[in-house]
Amino acid sequence: MKAEILMIGTELLIGQIVDTNASWLGQTLAEHGIHLYQKTTVGDNRARIVAALRAALERADVVLCSGGLGPTEDDITRECVAEVFGVPLVYREDLFEEVLARFKHVRIQITENNKRQAYLPEGAEAVPNPRGTAPGLLMKGPQGMVICMPGVPHELKGMVRDSVIPRLRAEFGLAGVLHYRVLKVCGVGESRIDHKMGDLINAHSNPTIGLLANPEANRIRIAAHAESVEAADALIDAVDAKVRERLPGLIFGTDNDTIEAVVAALLVGKGWKIGLLETVTGGMIAQRLLAADPACLAGAEILPVNPTAPEGVSLEDFAFDLARGKVLGLPSECALAVLADPANRRTVVAFVTPDSQAQWEIGEFASGQRNQLRAAIYSLERIRRELLGIQVDD
Ligand code: ATP
Ligand code: MG
Repeated sequence: MKAEILMIGTELLIGQIVDTNASWLGQTLAEHGIHLYQKTTVGDNRARIVAALRAALERADVVLCSGGLGPTEDDITRECVAEVFGVPLVYREDLFEEVLARFKHVRIQITENNKRQAYLPEGAEAVPNPRGTAPGLLMKGPQGMVICMPGVPHELKGMVRDSVIPRLRAEFGLAGVLHYRVLKVCGVGESRIDHKMGDLINAHSNPTIGLLANPEANRIRIAAHAESVEAADALIDAVDAKVRERLPGLIFGTDNDTIEAVVAALLVGKGWKIGLLETVTGGMIAQRLLAADPACLAGAEILPVNPTAPEGVSLEDFAFDLARGKVLGLPSECALAVLADPANRRTVVAFVTPDSQAQWEIGEFASGQRNQLRAAIYSLERIRRELLGIQVDD
């Protein structure tokens, strides 16, 4: 089976947005053994989209399109597909009901334009889009198959995983599966992880192990080819155990786990709430914990600068004092204080529980938001280690 991708949007052509969908699609299709032969980018122009679709269908069995499914005048992908297959667009009341329901759910007023999203080329199937307002579409004819997806990255990704890949596998009889698991580590640099387990990466071919640095968490990706997901999981389990042996206590979660969700669950599991005093991190720790589970948060104070320390008290001691004072009087079982120390280009963080205390410093590394993110993620990871009694010699 040959596939091509067609990326639609003038913003992509003129570089106003970076085409992350194309790179993600390329990688994802390859992982599933689907051969990708060409990628084309075209602006929001009817004649050129139609020509690009026709040309791609000459070469490939299936053309995957991204973008131009929205409600506005320049979203013309539906019309173009209809033209290529020589069919009219038809209004689908059932799809409009779905769009309406979705808008009601997110409490946004629907406009007349949204009706456009309930039209499909005659004979096309709607592809479910539970993350967005309007469905994608799948059209099949003598020319081949075209699947159109929204440009919004998380909608596209969900649709590819949930509908498109399974459909292509069934339609083109692709055998076997490629299944993977991501182990997540934060608060430790990529090079240190590589140092601890680099030999494993080279020693394995099925599953393969890949290491990907990311400001949220380093990702160790274990991918296996097998007959079934269960068989792949068994292969992955063996390597997963070896990786954990090399990085004791450092894997905080897998796949879609986030460090804040893990910490929130640990706090809630203990029946604890945390109090926060944030300066440098600007509320980022509070924001994340609150989004993960409000039940873990006693409250937070966000101050632009440190409170004034009493004469002769070091910043380190003062951070502990603030945390022990349950952070400016917030009633909580544990507390964290983040203090700025710009003169020494570092941030000092203190964390106390009824029977333990810990402190760490985070060196300035980048500027502004990147520093905030680094300090927030590292602090969340350190809280996790404290709550679980994990010692790491870093
Ligand atoms: P919408 O309903 O939002 O209009 P759409 O299917 O019409 O969706 P576009 O209008 O092309 O899609 O894109 C919507 C947004 O999704 C863009 O503003 C951009 O932020 C993002 N986006 C679109 N295409 C890509 C892409 N190829 N890579 C990364 N992001 C993209
Ligand atoms: Mg659009």
